[in-house]
Amino acid sequence: MIFRQLFDPQSSTYTYLLADSATREALLIDPVFEHARRDAALVEELGVKLGWTLETHLHADHVTGASLLKRRFGSKIAVSTDSGSEGADRRLADGDRVGFGRRALEVRATPGHTAGCLSFVLDDQSMAFTGDALLIRGCGRTDFQQGDAHRLFRSVRDKIFSLPDSCLIYPAHDYRGITASSVAEERKYNPRLGENVGEGDFVGYMTNLGLAHPKLMAVAVPANLRCGRPEKEDTASAADTDWAPLAYTFAGIWELQPDWLAENAGRVQVIDVREVEEFDGALGHIKGAKLLPLGSLLEKKQEISKDQPIVVVCRSGARSAQATVLLRNAGYAKVANLAGGMLRWRGQRLPVDGGTD
Ligand code: FE
Repeated sequence: MIFRQLFDPQSSTYTYLLADSATREALLIDPVFEHARRDAALVEELGVKLGWTLETHLHADHVTGASLLKRRFGSKIAVSTDSGSEGADRRLADGDRVGFGRRALEVRATPGHTAGCLSFVLDDQSMAFTGDALLIRGCGRTDFQQGDAHRLFRSVRDKIFSLPDSCLIYPAHDYRGITASSVAEERKYNPRLGENVGEGDFVGYMTNLGLAHPKLMAVAVPANLRCGRPEKEDTASAADTDWAPLAYTFAGIWELQPDWLAENAGRVQVIDVREVEEFDGALGHIKGAKLLPLGSLLEKKQEISKDQPIVVVCRSGARSAQATVLLRNAGYAKVANLAGGMLRWRGQRLPVDGGTD
């Protein structure tokens, strides 16, 4: 099985990608709206087919990426029967199974943090994705969204602590950056729900947390009730990336392929960030390219226009990838890396000025 744990630093949310390594069928648990592009890049780079996005619950601290990913890949959205949200393709209840290739997740209802909280247990019970029901040495709050400390106590004890000791726990959040725990560890050391804590102790603990409501709650809850479907389209950022067939990589770089540039060179500024000896060396350079070595790029940025999109090039595409980051941070919105640099350009026998065969 392919497994990846992804993180949103804004809300400390974990997103999980699971895929069957043979059939390449995949699902995502708790994708985050702002990271839909990142998650899509990972799906493409791993060469997997996204069949499902699953929500452990109706989140109050971030908006789901489910609708954006559905639009991109046609993936189906699965939520709890008790989540109250609209626009899902499937409603999940205790005992259901969600398949991906030859593997599957078992759905366990674990209400208490919200009325619709679900945990997902891998078919061989080696991993459990517990949402906010059970966190590492903690648990989700129970003071809003139909939270109920009595229900949460019973959910964790009956539905999670009944799993094998070795079953790994993957929560929806961790505010200290700790990535996983196990059933045995949490049963022994969880200060709220461990085996020596009684239901009355737990309820007393939870009613006295005194937490402020999440900052994004007023935005996140209504958006998640629509499965993260945007209310209006974000045309401003689209305009910065639809000037060419750009691809977004998991490394966070916008890039385009040499054949597009060969046909559209007149529409863009080509900035070559190699050193002067390389520019005049054996690989040659693209006709009309402006030489601005990476080390002095920002000092000389007044030579770059903001009115025309920029394509950055170097030998292999590595330095130019960094140049796209520097230029975007300097306020240039329409910037892309030439994938593979001059090496790929020459490999595809595209024309150069100078250079040797
Ligand atoms: Fe939550």
